[in-house]
Amino acid sequence: MDTMNCDVAVVGAGPAGCVVARTCAEAGYNTILFEKNRVPGLKVCGGFLEPRIIEEFEIDPRVIDYHIDRFFLHTKNHNAVLKASDMFGYEAGATMRREKFDAWLADKAVEAGAALHTSSRCLRSIIKNGKVAGIKLAAKKSKKEFKAKITVAADGFYSTVARSAGLIPKYSKKDFMIGFQREVYLKTPLDKGEVHVFLGNMISRCGYGWLFPKMHGFTAGVGSLATQLTDTKTLSNGLNWFLEKHPVCSDLVKNAKNISKPKLACIPISQHRNLSCNGLVTVGDAAGQVSPTTGGGIYYAMKAAEIVSEVIIQSLETGDNSKEFLRRYDSKWRVTLGKDLHFERLLFDMSRIHYTSWQELMLLINKNLISSTLVAFALFCLKTALPCF
Ligand SMILES: Cc1cc2nc3c(=O)[nH]c(=O)nc-3n(C[C@H](O)[C@H](O)[C@H](O)COP(=O)(O)OP(=O)(O)OC[C@H]3O[C@@H](n4cnc5c(N)ncnc54)[C@H](O)[C@@H]3O)c2cc1C
Repeated sequence: MDTMNCDVAVVGAGPAGCVVARTCAEAGYNTILFEKNRVPGLKVCGGFLEPRIIEEFEIDPRVIDYHIDRFFLHTKNHNAVLKASDMFGYEAGATMRREKFDAWLADKAVEAGAALHTSSRCLRSIIKNGKVAGIKLAAKKSKKEFKAKITVAADGFYSTVARSAGLIPKYSKKDFMIGFQREVYLKTPLDKGEVHVFLGNMISRCGYGWLFPKMHGFTAGVGSLATQLTDTKTLSNGLNWFLEKHPVCSDLVKNAKNISKPKLACIPISQHRNLSCNGLVTVGDAAGQVSPTTGGGIYYAMKAAEIVSEVIIQSLETGDNSKEFLRRYDSKWRVTLGKDLHFERLLFDMSRIHYTSWQELMLLINKNLISSTLVAFALFCLKTALPCF
């Protein structure tokens, strides 16, 4: 079996992996980015970019499909139209297709000097003397070993790399959401960027739904907490019903010339307790760094990638890749965005209100610029004082 060496082995060319690979390569380290698919970006994803991603990561306008002017919020009892600026305090969010977005991010990593190996599926971490020493992978029908000073598990929800290193506990249903998506190809392109989100009883059997504008038409999806589902068929049937029977949605897609087959994917909503161990760090979905209320994870994946890259570079400079050193990343993450996500999850669990009601509440809070913390605290006090509430 071939064995090769590098400083940093990054597994997964999604947003997290590409940002880590780019930053480590820019710092002059021999970095390899491995992707199991033949191209990056085949991930099932709504493709909504929060405004802060566009600003903080200087996203190339060429990878954007639509800038979003308005959000339509459809519930059982009312339809609300929210201006993007009301929701975020900025002018616009945007939509993109992951095949373009991830390819652009991977190109940036390559331009910085990282080597991109596609069609390279990582099989497991190599562990020597209690330390992750690299990865074993299958590429073009042969197996290879790559020894690395630091291995980065950026391989998404299931994370073979972190799991084989014993870093991720078994998922329970409360730790993830399930999403189903179909691409709707319209006969004529859309003339404006509007996002539609569907909440409430009309689709309560499948959680919540979305229609995001894309160059080809729409990305249509439904998502639900795994705890609310007995089987995934309920969700895929929910998506069909949503497209064919929901009064607003079926009208929006009536000009479809083609609708792709549904694809399923999971979204982690619990951050993992430990993000690193000897020789290995986890980042993005592999570390559970996703908003539990919206299911949005691209921003968190890219920000966590920036934080972990700093620690990786320090670790390579000092030659210390022990878990004690790498846990500087855990601490840095926890006091920044990790704290926000943890708090969001805590409040979400504490409020114990129906998921769709929670989302609706969050949107209305955002719209009126009320502090979500204050509202959740008030809810908590009410619940404590009045158990029937
Ligand atoms: C249905 C759905 C809709 C979503 N919509 C949005 C949205 O609109 N906006 C938003 O912000 N977030 C959204 N998310 C969440 C978002 O997609 C993730 O949080 C984000 O992609 C995480 O980035 P990542 O780089 O950590 O992981 P990923 O994007 O999952 O990338 C992991 C990469 O690793 C590769 N890989 C996996 N295993 C291996 C292996 N063994 N060897 C080599 N390579 C491997 C994969 O092919 C992939 O390219 C959505 C998620 C789902 C499921």
